[in-house]
Amino acid sequence: MPPLLELEDLHVHYGMVEALKGVSFSVEAGEVVALIGANGAGKTTTLKTISGVRPVTSGRILLDGKDISGVPAHERVGLGISQSPEGRRIFPGMSVLENLEMGAYARGPGRSGAGKKAKLGPDLDRVFGLLPRLAERRSQSGGTLSGGEQQMLAIGRALMARPQVLLLDEPSMGLAPKLVSQIFAIVSEINLQGTTVLLVEQNAAQALARSNRAYVLETGRIVKSGLAADLLGDESVRNAYLGGDVT
Ligand code: ATP
Repeated sequence: MPPLLELEDLHVHYGMVEALKGVSFSVEAGEVVALIGANGAGKTTTLKTISGVRPVTSGRILLDGKDISGVPAHERVGLGISQSPEGRRIFPGMSVLENLEMGAYARGPGRSGAGKKAKLGPDLDRVFGLLPRLAERRSQSGGTLSGGEQQMLAIGRALMARPQVLLLDEPSMGLAPKLVSQIFAIVSEINLQGTTVLLVEQNAAQALARSNRAYVLETGRIVKSGLAADLLGDESVRNAYLGGDVT
């Protein structure tokens, strides 16, 4: 069986700047895989390229062994790739419920029966089960939620697309330590419920603690990979990304 998601020698440019310089990695069904690296390493670019927001210069993205590099972003959601973007980009003027409904419509009429709200019941139940804070606030407008609640909404919205693989871009960014732990626990729970996760994080210690495997990205190249537990114990990774500390 091919990996669920595979990147083959991906090169991506912003104008003349080459942000990804031949990135290859794979994510097996059922895994949590972390992508860690310093600012500007290309983590967000990698996720945007997988979700189709950035075009590839060369290289291939395979989902279940099929090349999806040329498939437009909106169709990739329908194929099972859903991204929770960096910076909690929710719809601030819409209620929590409306934000979640938008997430379901993103997967397209083929898989959702878009427009038929009744069909969203099981998806909403699942999201509210995982993120009970959202259930309490379903009528509140997204823009008035706290930072942590907005992050939960961004994750919940991505889950409404019923992804095979959920791309999470810095879910812990800007959150207080207690909330960071909660968000990582939610990531583990999402995975336990059967969703494969590709997790981009600055918070390398927590990300590695919650992942099966990880890749380290440096200026557009994968420089290290392995079991997350091994990378947590790797001295060069500890020094570069964990402040020499693994606690
Ligand atoms: P961070 O952790 O700071 O979010 P990152 O690892 O996610 O960083 P990217 O945002 O993918 O890094 O950026 C990779 C490189 O591409 C950087 O050198 C960045 O300056 C450049 N880049 C990103 N977005 C653009 C853009 N819209 N236009 C031009 N260059 C860009």
